[in-house]
Amino acid sequence: MRSPDPVDASAPSIGPGVPSGLIGPDDILRYDYDGLTAEFDRRFGKGEYHAGALFRSLYRRGASDPGALPEFSANPSLAQSVRGAFRYSLPEIAGRVGDETAYKFLLRLRDGYESESVVIPMRQYKSLCISSQVGCKMGCTFCETAQMGYLRSLDAGEIVAQVMVARHVLKEPIQNVVFMGMGEPMDNLDNVLQAIRILSDQRGLNIAQSAITLSTVGHVDGINKLAALAKNPPPHGFSRLRLAVSLNAPNDEIRSRIMPVNRQWKLADLKEALRGYPLAHKDDFLFMEYVLLAGVNDSREHAIEVAEYLRDLRACVNLIPYNPRLESPFGRPDKEGVAHFYRWLMEAGQYCRIRGTKGKDAMAACGQLGNRALKRTARPAAMAPAS
Ligand code: SF4
Repeated sequence: MRSPDPVDASAPSIGPGVPSGLIGPDDILRYDYDGLTAEFDRRFGKGEYHAGALFRSLYRRGASDPGALPEFSANPSLAQSVRGAFRYSLPEIAGRVGDETAYKFLLRLRDGYESESVVIPMRQYKSLCISSQVGCKMGCTFCETAQMGYLRSLDAGEIVAQVMVARHVLKEPIQNVVFMGMGEPMDNLDNVLQAIRILSDQRGLNIAQSAITLSTVGHVDGINKLAALAKNPPPHGFSRLRLAVSLNAPNDEIRSRIMPVNRQWKLADLKEALRGYPLAHKDDFLFMEYVLLAGVNDSREHAIEVAEYLRDLRACVNLIPYNPRLESPFGRPDKEGVAHFYRWLMEAGQYCRIRGTKGKDAMAACGQLGNRALKRTARPAAMAPAS
């Protein structure tokens, strides 16, 4: 992993309630570099010189006032027009909870809904788990997010804002991003890919595609669509993006019981899609997430079935001891049970790792995000528009 870009301590203070300079209606965080350049051309008859300066300043320093940039010094009326056209207003932090192993923060969106993100300190870097939707349609029975149902998808700007808040407001140097928060990324793929274009742009946040993981429940149409885009390298393609798939079961019978998506796309359909997924480098893997549920999917026979299923795929299984959702009917296997499953898989010839669980006591761990109260309330009152 490359060394982190330092957080610029000299950058102006930004965050909820702090005027940024950009007070217009159009959220600037939804534009990638080329898109912003095209907008400058369309709206102001200007190009990359000005748009690029603003893009770099915004993402590298969190500084968004065009009037403070040398590229705009000869043209104050352009700076004024840009201020009035675009908005840079990070969402309010509605809550923050966690411990030294991980903490999650909640962002209040403009319509009153919330996104949830989790900062996870690793040995050498910090990882950020982000959401792609508010709630989720997929209904996995072990997952807290599923309990709140699907409320809506996040747009690209709302996805990028989660990283901007972590990096520039909370001053966390983020080097790794995983789409494993609320929602199924393949169900909102266009916005997710646009966000990845922005996050990975070397002229901005510069988070390498190889440090971004898109995790799917096994949405076969989405995997096929991404496979076509993963044939080309960055910046226009997604060949370095890492793909993780929630497998979680050794066979269709168990998987359909705990993951309704398996009724639409069986394991054979999933495997066919994964066979067609291009891996750019010989040391790249498909990451298969396997949540261990005590007494459901954690026997020796299950390990052998999993190894057999993955036999001709270049896959690494990440074993995740279950983090119980509220009122969960499922249990977490003990340490010994996890170690046994690991050994059985390895003996059957399947490479695997045990993923450490962080933040479970704060409901910040994998599968524990979501706010059921949002589902119970009617659509929340919209936030006052930025003025
Ligand atoms: S595990 Fe992922 S895909 Fe399944 S319900 Fe939860 S958020 Fe959705």
